[in-house]
Order: sequence, then structure tokens, then C-alpha cells
Amino acid sequence: VIMPATLFAQGKLKQLYKDPNVPIQIRVKDLLSKMTIEEKAGQLNQLNSGDLTGPGLNATSQQEKLIMLKAGKIGSFLNTIGASTTRSVQKIAVEQSRLGIPLLFGYDVIHGYKTLFPIPLAEACSWDLDQVTENSKVAAKEAAVSGLHWTFAPMCDISTDPRWGRVMEGAGEDPYYASLLASARVKGFQGKLESEYNVLATVKHFAAYGAVEGGRDYNNVDVSRSKLWNTYLPPYEAAVKAGAATVMNSFNVLDGIPASGNKFLLTEVLKNKWGFKGFVVSDWNSFGEMIPHGFAADYKDVALKALKAGSMMDMESKSVINHLPQLIKEGKLNIAQVDDAVGRILYYKFKLGLFENPYRFSDEQREKDNLLTPAHRKVARIAGTKSIVLLKNSDQLLPLASKDKKIALVGFYANSKADMVDMWKGTSDYNTYVTVYDGLKAQYKDLTFADGYNSKNETSEKLIAEAVNNASAADVVIVNIGISGKVSGEDKSLADINIPAGQIALLKALHQTGKPIIALVTAGRPLVLTQVLPYTNAVLYCWLLGTETGNSVADVVKGLYNPTAKTVMSFPYAVGQVPVYYNHFNTGRPAPDPGGDSFYSRYLDIPNQPLFPFGYGLSYTTFNYRNLSLDLPLLNSGQVQNVSVTVKNTGKYDGEEIVQLYINDITASIVRPVKELKAYKKIGLKAGEEKTITFQLGAKDLSFFDDKGNVILEKGKFKIFVGGNSRDVLETTFELK
Ligand code: BGC
Repeated sequence: VIMPATLFAQGKLKQLYKDPNVPIQIRVKDLLSKMTIEEKAGQLNQLNSGDLTGPGLNATSQQEKLIMLKAGKIGSFLNTIGASTTRSVQKIAVEQSRLGIPLLFGYDVIHGYKTLFPIPLAEACSWDLDQVTENSKVAAKEAAVSGLHWTFAPMCDISTDPRWGRVMEGAGEDPYYASLLASARVKGFQGKLESEYNVLATVKHFAAYGAVEGGRDYNNVDVSRSKLWNTYLPPYEAAVKAGAATVMNSFNVLDGIPASGNKFLLTEVLKNKWGFKGFVVSDWNSFGEMIPHGFAADYKDVALKALKAGSMMDMESKSVINHLPQLIKEGKLNIAQVDDAVGRILYYKFKLGLFENPYRFSDEQREKDNLLTPAHRKVARIAGTKSIVLLKNSDQLLPLASKDKKIALVGFYANSKADMVDMWKGTSDYNTYVTVYDGLKAQYKDLTFADGYNSKNETSEKLIAEAVNNASAADVVIVNIGISGKVSGEDKSLADINIPAGQIALLKALHQTGKPIIALVTAGRPLVLTQVLPYTNAVLYCWLLGTETGNSVADVVKGLYNPTAKTVMSFPYAVGQVPVYYNHFNTGRPAPDPGGDSFYSRYLDIPNQPLFPFGYGLSYTTFNYRNLSLDLPLLNSGQVQNVSVTVKNTGKYDGEEIVQLYINDITASIVRPVKELKAYKKIGLKAGEEKTITFQLGAKDLSFFDDKGNVILEKGKFKIFVGGNSRDVLETTFELK
């Protein structure tokens, strides 16, 4: 038997790329050798709305797209919805274009496709990586049966600014934890790519998009190299190392250079240092945005600068399809670099099996059978319960175990489906959402409802009177406050993240009834709760939980699930405190000097500490920490430090606790944060039970990056902290020799 590869080498096999038995790299090479430069540019061209009806950024008409598609000038579409549409568009690509190269269909599956899961920030508060992987896996399955190949997730942008609307898409402020989350999400979306129900993942937005100044979306970014390496880059790197197929450019500049044209990021870091083998996609017209940034003169210049820097697929700017052939002819771009980019995209098309089966595993029947199934809804419901953070629970008001409690539910959002989700709602349908009202009504027979405020967050005498009336007749008041899901996500920055004044007025009036008050807070970001605490007895931070919202909330209120979630973003005490985050550097003046200078780093009108710190979240039971101990007071760099602590469940419910370990490198060549999370464990303890748990710390955990991205391990003293959040910790020290 003569191998196809041999035949190919001898020039005897003409259509080698069509043979599934040939190794992918050889198929790619063969196909590249058959492509014109226009067809290569086509593979780098991604356009919006592959149903061929909707316009794209540059209002490409249906007719124009059809002509381009047949000419092999489109390699990918985004926002093509449904098995039947993707199939009909794919059919044109594979049957009517010269080489029959299949299209890749991409879509923003951010927290679900048809079944919506908690927003990424909320699911991150579960500290449950298996759950997160499971959520992504279900989302990928629903997307895959609907004809999609690729999701533009996970977002791996660290952010410390809740004014930024996109904090909802990430995993909070900590680089270590966000790295674990990024990997868990990639694993869930991609699995083994060959298998049927997976999609390609996208690491976005590369890089440091979460550092936009003032939390204003698309704004500029200016971070030091040391901060870039230590804080912003680790989650992207983790996702790349987890095998993510694609990386998306960010909109911002870094060192004054737009990310889409940033050679340092794309070539030096991503390709050379991290060895990324997948392909880079621009963000929506981020190539074109290099013109208003003041970095490129026109679209031809855009294509040149983007591709030269290491960007590859062009989402929507059309600069590449329009100018690449000319740039090659003029010798401005190297064809080897273009072949490398095109080859990476083709590689994944082969890898997904699209040349053998361009429709993959999607068809209308499969779509019908696999969307929003009871099993998927169940996963979402469980994920929801694990995402709700209990911030306050005076006198153990919660859980409300008895179904006979008379409840006054108040709050417009508790009964408004349109406000339950953000812009990344996938293809989900409002009618399928379980509201807080629905969820609680199913658990408690005696429940009244009043709006309390309107869709604009305003209240009135009438709305208050109605709510107070219901409250007076009830055993307990549950009030749903917060902000609409509609102001979460891209282009949804807010300067004011306080609880709206109308809601505070409502809380005050309800408080005067003397009834116990439980607040449920709906929001895609941490809000300032300082004014809420005095008028409430218990606070559950419910974020945006997706399709099963009401059921998850009711499970927690009733105590069917004992809360375990811990916030992964600090809750500011006041807006003026932002950015406030736990892993900051110390100042030279951290506190007043008792014997002298009273000038120190502070605000005169508010405390330095956030209202709730990173890692904070209560349970219906309580936990006590004691006996923090180390193996070795002096550690050699090759050794492992065992850190032990005893945790006891001191309350009356069984529960789970997320035990967190932080370090502080006391003196270093580059100053290090006051605390850095390095490990955690989620443990279950029965009421009264105690366990001693041990963490292992090695050289990797004690090292950091210098400003060139080298890993540095330095001798000296370290503090170790262990506790149930980043503030309330036990502390000890050791020395690294
Ligand atoms: C967003 C990306 C998203 C893309 C495609 C952009 O505006 O920044 O996160 O993946 O649109 O919808």
C-alpha cells in the first residue's frame, strides 16, 4: 500500500486535502498550494450575519455576500443562527466555491446558547471548577447541534472596576483564580475537538481590556509591564495552555499601540513565548479602529499593520479581503506569514471534521432534541444556587424553611423577564425564564407581590403604600433590588453603581414596618450596598442567573441549598473608592504612625476597606479556623511547604466552606501585593464536624514575574494567610532560603 503522503510527494495525488486519512498538516499544505491569494484573503475574512440577510458593519448586502461566498472570499461568519440557516449557507460554500472550503460559524455563547446559565462572574463565585466546566459543556452542546463551531468565550480580562459593564463576562479581580476559571471554561467548550458536541473557544480580549481607564468601555489602557505580566496576562496564558483554539484581539491600546497591531503581544508573547498554535481573530472591526486610534492611515495600512503584528482573521473591517492581494503584490507583506495564518484556520476546519462533514453534527431534529432540555435546565438551576452570595444574615433570618411563612415579595425586577438577562442572552427566549416571583411562588403558598418601584427604578407614594401594606400583613419581606440586566455587558459602563435612590426610599419605608427584610440583589456587577445594609436583615447577592433564576433563588431562600459562594470581586464601600481590590500593593504610608506623622494614604470621608472583600460569602452555618501551622520554618527552594489548618463547623447546619490560602512576599526586588491567593479548597463539614486540611506550597507559588516576563524566585520571608475570605485570616510566616 502506498501512503497518500507518498503519492502526494510524488505528485500523483491531486486532491490530497480531501483525504481524511492524510495527516492534517499535509492536508493544509496541499490546500494552501492550490489557493489563490484572493482565496487566502478569503479565509482571513469574517463577516457578520451569515443568514445573508442582515447587514454587517459596512452594510455588505445579501447579494454582495453571496458573490463573495461563491468566490471563496469569506472564511467565516458570525451571528448565523440555527441548524437550518447554517446548513444552507454552508452548502453554498462547499458546493459552489472553487475549492469547497467549509465555513466556520462563530457566535457569542457567553453564558449559554438556549439555556442560560449564571453570568460568568456569578458562576465564578461558586469556586467550583467542575460546575463551571459542566456549564460550558452544556452551552457548547446546544451551540454545536445548532450548527455553530466556535464561541467567542471565555473572556479572561481581569478587572477591578465594577463601573465597567463587562466585568460580568469575566472571573473577577484575581489572576490565580481567573486562570483556573479560564482553563475550566476552555475545557468545557472544547473538550476533545473531534467529538461531536464541542465548539472552539476564544481567549479574549487580548490584552488588558479590563484595565480601561475609569471603567469606560473601549477606553485607553495604560498598565506597567510588571502589572501586565503579574496581573493581566496569566488568565490568557492559562487558557492558551489549556488548548484554546483561538485568541481575540482587544479594542484598547497597550503602550500606545492598538492590540490588533501590537507585535509585542501577538508575536513576542502569544506566539513566541507561549507557543500558541491556534489562530487570532480581531474583535469587531478592531482592525479598522486602528484608524481613529491614530495608528493606521487607511484600510490598506490597517491590513498591513494588523497582519504584520500577528493578527490573523479580520472580523468585519474587510481591510484584509480588500487589500491583502495588493499588499502581497507590492512586496509589503510576506506570503509565508499569510500562509501561516491561513494554515492555522484551515487546521481547525480539518480538525473539526468539516471537510468530511461540513454540517458536523447539527440538524434540525438534533437541535430540537437538545435545546433547553430538562437536564440542561437542571444544570443551570444547580449552577445558580452555587453562584448566590450570602452577604448578610442577621439573627439567622435565612433560611425560611417553613413553606407556611407569609411572604411579601416586593420589587419590579422580581417579576420582569426582560430585566433578568444581559445583552449576551444567546438565542434564549424570555418566555422560558423562571422569575424570582415564579420561583418563590412555587415554594411558598402565601405570597403577595408589589412592584415597589417601576422599570426606571423610580418609586412613588402609591407604589410604596402598596408595598408597605403587603409587608405589614406578612411574616417576612423579600425585596428584589438592584439594576436591570440590560445595563450589563459591552458598552454598558456606569458612573453610578449605587442602589437607585427610589429603591433606597422603598427600603426605608419597608424597614419602618418592623418586619424582617431579606434583600435579593440583581446586577451584573458588584453594586455599592452601603445604604442597603442598615435597612435589611439579610442580603443575598443574586447577580444574573439565567433561565432558572427564580428556582435557584428559591432553593437558597428555603435552605434546600446552603450558600457556599464567595465573591470574586470586592464590593466597594463607595463609588469614589473604585478601583478597590484585595491584591493591591502597600503604600509607604499604610497607616498613621502612632508616634508622629498622621498624614497617610486614605480618604477623609470613607474607609480604605471595601464593604465586602474578595473571597467573602457567608453560609447558613458558621465556620471557625484555628491551628494554622507550617511544616518548615525554613524552606529550601526545592522543598514543598505543607500548610495545615483546622476548620470547624460551629453552626447548626451542614455546610461547605471555601478555605482560601494567601501569601505575601514581604520584601522583594519588585514590590508584591499585600495578599495573593495561591490555593483554595472547598470542603464539606457536617454540623459540629471539624477537619484539618493541608495545602502544599512550592517554588512556583512563591515566584512572580519581572517586567520582562521572566519568572523570579527570591529568598526571604513570606507571610501565609488562611481564612474564609481575604480579610479575616489567620497568619504565620516562614523564610525561603
Ligand atoms: C465584542 C466581543 C464579541 C464580538 C462579536 C465585540 O464587540 O467586544 O466580545 O465577541 O463583538 O460579537
